[in-house]
Amino acid sequence: MSDAAQTHRPRILTGDTPTGRLHLGHYVGSLENRLRLQDEYDCYFLLANMHAFTTRADKPADIRQDTIEIVKDWLAVGIDPDRSTIVLQTEVPAIAELTWFFAMLLPFNRVMRNPTLKTEIDAKGLGDTYSFGFPMYAVGQCADILAFRPELVPVGVDQVAHIEMCREAARRFDQFYCNVDPRTEDEDYAKAGGVFPVPSALVGRIGRLVGTDGSNKMSKSLNNAIYLSDTPKQVKKKIGAMYPGQSREPNEPGNVEINPVFGYAEAFIKDEAQVDELKERYRRGDNLGDGHVKAAVIDAVNELLDPMRERRAALENKDGDERVIEVIRAGTAKANLVAEETLHMAKRAMGLDFGTRSLAWK
Ligand code: ATP
Ligand code: MG
Repeated sequence: MSDAAQTHRPRILTGDTPTGRLHLGHYVGSLENRLRLQDEYDCYFLLANMHAFTTRADKPADIRQDTIEIVKDWLAVGIDPDRSTIVLQTEVPAIAELTWFFAMLLPFNRVMRNPTLKTEIDAKGLGDTYSFGFPMYAVGQCADILAFRPELVPVGVDQVAHIEMCREAARRFDQFYCNVDPRTEDEDYAKAGGVFPVPSALVGRIGRLVGTDGSNKMSKSLNNAIYLSDTPKQVKKKIGAMYPGQSREPNEPGNVEINPVFGYAEAFIKDEAQVDELKERYRRGDNLGDGHVKAAVIDAVNELLDPMRERRAALENKDGDERVIEVIRAGTAKANLVAEETLHMAKRAMGLDFGTRSLAWK
């Protein structure tokens, strides 16, 4: 498709932090929407590798490898680099520059009160020794998104607070520097002369998939995830070990609501009638053991993951890493054209247009 044909499609920006491989939570929270919208939107998928340094500055080799693994996950899921643009954050300098501008537009206390940051500090045990860069990532994320002036940001529920902050940054920028009337409707900011549209979050089919621990959000940092790259044996072991929230015999009535395995049944068993029947029998204590429910979920998860495993296998070699790096290079070069244009527009609006610079990135 020509560049001209691509530019009139509305844009999507979203991404993942290379702090580990992708899991089922990413799939239902965001990846599914990315796949579905690849043709309708001009999609940019960001590898937030700078943000991985906010909590793992001492692990550069891990971050590099995780960056490559996440692209393999994306390709395995069906993200097509010929249709969607894969972007490496650390090689898009406009993002770093825009981060500074947005840092000036967001009150310090507003950033620190962000509930997602607070939850992450607790969940990741960061205490009070987290880096200065850690809360900065929330501001940086405004720049990640707005550098691409997108309409839509497909994310899980935990990111909605971040997107709200990004929307505020966009409004404030447009009001301060582009004379956009504060009474303007969010969807009209760009039309009213703003550099930035006010983008919307698009939350996936399941905005917060619980981890195999049955309580926390499934997360690559919490050791409670089923990875898209897990083998059938690993899937069986992880789901097999899940606590069903209660202790019961197959012929005793059970509580579906407190059993996290049923959450997975709803998320991954395609046949709704089968899910309803499992729930019904479980509630009645109709000779339905927890092992039976788990076996049905394991089959469904494997059915979803099998084609991904096949596509991933083709990338599990040295040439695979090279191919991934090529995809990152090509995507990032294209992404820089958009991000540089945005930066130029932003600087012009701010009276910072003292000259033009060009960025050659190969
Ligand atoms: P980390 O623990 O390092 O923050 P993470 O597992 O939360 O990792 P992110 O890279 O922060 O993953 O999130 C990538 C995207 O996936 C975000 O849009 C996020 O909302 C979504 N997501 C992550 N975990 C889940 C989940 N359990 N359910 C639904 N969506 C999720
Ligand atoms: Mg996260």
